[in-house]
Amino acid sequence: MTIAISQDQIQIIVDRAENIYPEECCGILLGTISGSLKTVVEVIPTANVWVKSELGDDLADPTEISRTKTSRYTIDPQDIFQATKRGRYLELEIVGFFHSHPDNPAVPSICDRDLAWHVYSYPIVSVMQGKVNDFKSWVLDDLGIFQQEEEISFLKLP
Ligand SMILES: [Zn+2]
Repeated sequence: MTIAISQDQIQIIVDRAENIYPEECCGILLGTISGSLKTVVEVIPTANVWVKSELGDDLADPTEISRTKTSRYTIDPQDIFQATKRGRYLELEIVGFFHSHPDNPAVPSICDRDLAWHVYSYPIVSVMQGKVNDFKSWVLDDLGIFQQEEEISFLKLP
């Protein structure tokens, strides 16, 4: 899979990640899918509405309960609904969800994998001491294992 995203679009994610640091930022990518190419058209930063209590008591990993927005994110379903509506209006679809990893590498966590769906791309930016230093995009393979997106194609703006 290839994701095509412009430097300006990446900059929106970078700015957001650095502004929200040390919490995780998150957001929605609208675009088009053609064969194995996803093209990002719009980057929609959203609030991180993570709350611990969402997890309930049946946690596989008891350390989960101590997690905060510095290491977890949740996108409000209402934001996803609004993005879907906007996408329908613009003839675009949701192609992925981005988030940041404050003081951690741009590699998906176990939690990221558990919450991921096959069709989407999951760009992650690593923010070390407030500065973004890495950007990688991930997709699930047929076995449900995250693979780094084969290629990030940086679109040149007209
Ligand atoms: Zn993550």
